[in-house]
Amino acid sequence: MPMLTQRFTADAPWMIDNYEALDGYTGLRAALMLAPDELIAMVKQSNLRGRGGAGFPTGMKWQFIPRDDGRPHYVVVNGDEGEPGTCRDLPLMMTDPHSLIEGIIIACYAVRAEQAFIYIRGEAVHAIRRVSAAIEQAHAKGYLGTNILGSGLNCVITVHAGAGAYICGEETALLDSLEGKRGQPRLKPPFPATNGLYDAPTVVNNVGTLACVPYIVRGGAAWFNGIGTPGSPGTSIYSLSGRIANPGQYEAPMGTSLRELLDLAGGMSRGQDLKFWTPGGSSTPLFTPEHLDVPLDFDDVAKAGSMNGTSAIMLFDESDCVVRAVQKWSQFYAHESCGKCTPCREGTYWYIGIYERLENGAGTAEDLETLLDLSDNILGRAFCALGDGATSPVTSSIKYFREEYQRHIDLHACPFTSPTTAQRS
Ligand code: NAD
Repeated sequence: MPMLTQRFTADAPWMIDNYEALDGYTGLRAALMLAPDELIAMVKQSNLRGRGGAGFPTGMKWQFIPRDDGRPHYVVVNGDEGEPGTCRDLPLMMTDPHSLIEGIIIACYAVRAEQAFIYIRGEAVHAIRRVSAAIEQAHAKGYLGTNILGSGLNCVITVHAGAGAYICGEETALLDSLEGKRGQPRLKPPFPATNGLYDAPTVVNNVGTLACVPYIVRGGAAWFNGIGTPGSPGTSIYSLSGRIANPGQYEAPMGTSLRELLDLAGGMSRGQDLKFWTPGGSSTPLFTPEHLDVPLDFDDVAKAGSMNGTSAIMLFDESDCVVRAVQKWSQFYAHESCGKCTPCREGTYWYIGIYERLENGAGTAEDLETLLDLSDNILGRAFCALGDGATSPVTSSIKYFREEYQRHIDLHACPFTSPTTAQRS
């Protein structure tokens, strides 16, 4: 049974009347019958884990917000969604924006915040308009504003358009951007839970995380725990793209394998065999066909050597050059590196020079060792996850496809003669 996408086939679910007719805002009504701490306990028991990619326990994050500290508290929604291959926050905001708004109001009540911000990347004008219109509707119906549903709760939500920088998906860069500064990551700790927006306690949650909350309040923690795997309950919206017959978003219980997802999506396109794939976006180490049966949840993917990340599965077949794919991702990271820390700024720049040599037939065996050495010097030494993520496709592709790199060096050319043709077809 779909959860987050259950209204996707309904008639205009973004209109508040239609949303209400499909159980909309009943989670909020139920939440307001509980004390804030009871709500936090419920979300903790549900074991909901952050859908932004890191999988941090949501209830624990809410519990970190201090009580009675005299400072304003904020809820900030990360809708920046920039990870290559990831496309699940946008469909959610476009199709079912009220489930996000309902989740935000519940979160505000739980952590005693009266102001929330939704940070949406600026290019997604359609989503900004859709969410803004839904907020207006919610105000008109008394779900936002003052004394919400007679409970005494006050809450307003402001939509903020980002400017299309990948780094602004990093939560502290996002907060700086929201404050009007250049978006660059802050040193952690302190974490936003104690020193976030305007140095005040702030919950930063992803769109998909908050959209789960009304369902948890309505169905209960035990119900939610019964879906998915014990360590990663609930469902995930897996974004399938690349060499797949029917690309798109597939909601399935956490722990579904790629083999099962391929069945749902009609298998590989073009009749070629799967060669490599990303389990959770390009920042997660590559998988190969040997990982087809790995349950795609936070713990099992980690045990198999990668990360569940954003559940963005990009599939490549035997006609695709892994060196060229990693070259493209490296160009992305070098372009998006904010430049604040040396390992990431310089390391990603070095990557693209080496990949250009390898693809153009001028690579040497030494280049492979330099790539690994560079990766060692970025991983764990960069200011934020961007640098770490940039190393994932590099080191994993060398681990699984070293002989393909070697062929580039031996042939003095890319063995995949028409990569662009293959990629366009
Ligand atoms: P992280 O593990 O450092 O933190 C995860 C969350 O937990 C953060 O909100 C952080 O504030 C909180 N947290 C962690 N420890 C805490 C503590 N001790 N006290 C209070 N709060 C604490 O991960 P991250 O750097 O925020 O995110 C990395 C992930 O982002 C990657 O796994 C990647 O998959 C994902 N990502 C997603 C996108 C996207 O488009 N959605 C883009 C790039 C990367």
